Amino acid sequence: MTNYICTTCGVQYEANTAPPLNCPICEDDRQYVNPGGQSWTTLKEVSKQHRNIIEKVSEDLYAIYTAPKFAIGQRAFLVISPGGNILWDCVTLLDPSTIDIIEKLGGIKAIVLSHPHYFSTIVEWSETFQADIYIHAEDASWLGRKNNKLRLWEGDMEPLWDQIKIVRCGGHFPGACILHWPVGEGTLLVGDTIQVSPNLTTVSFMYSYPNNIPLPKKDILAIASAVKFLEYNVMHGAFGLSIRQDATAVMKRSVQRYLKIYE
Ligand SMILES: [Zn+2]
Ligand SMILES: [Zn+2]
Repeated sequence: MTNYICTTCGVQYEANTAPPLNCPICEDDRQYVNPGGQSWTTLKEVSKQHRNIIEKVSEDLYAIYTAPKFAIGQRAFLVISPGGNILWDCVTLLDPSTIDIIEKLGGIKAIVLSHPHYFSTIVEWSETFQADIYIHAEDASWLGRKNNKLRLWEGDMEPLWDQIKIVRCGGHFPGACILHWPVGEGTLLVGDTIQVSPNLTTVSFMYSYPNNIPLPKKDILAIASAVKFLEYNVMHGAFGLSIRQDATAVMKRSVQRYLKIYE
């Protein structure tokens, strides 16, 4: 029995004797099936050709990404917090050196996912670190693999500990969310629920990034209203880009830019 992993999105599925016939996440119009045909791999194979890089981003915050890039290529974040460390989003590769470094940083109490594109190998991570998995109930149907540490949360906000909370924004997925970490001036970990643009002075919101499908006005307004009452100055996106100051102003300006288009 093997837990097969889709090579295009990096999501792992329940153990089986043969690979699944298709990957629902890639067949959805927010993603894409490998033009060369659906293909599968295993965690063992991924670990032969890839390594994780764990980089200190700021005090008590580490980014985790895989090199060379695997599948979607997102980064995860490890938030070090007195009440327990949080892994925000996830990457497919989990190997002994990653486990060793994270254990030295205090392990992981909870894995919190922004949306299904980063579900990757969450069950492997959960079982390794005995960590709960927080996923918004609206996105539960996209899970490739489940375990008994899964916590499906509902509504618009889920408080964790140390005043850290998960905030549902919707848009990209009905349960798409961000993490608010209030330490210092306040930080938002946004995945691509809010996409940090390369100019680092604007953000974007899309139904599909690879297929360039925009969101309707009501979803842009819902995202804006979800973050309106949060205090933050810094924003870290899923693809190596961060806004290190005035993130609240960046968010406001970017929403206004969208609303002008919809006028
Ligand atoms: Zn896939
Ligand atoms: Zn996505």
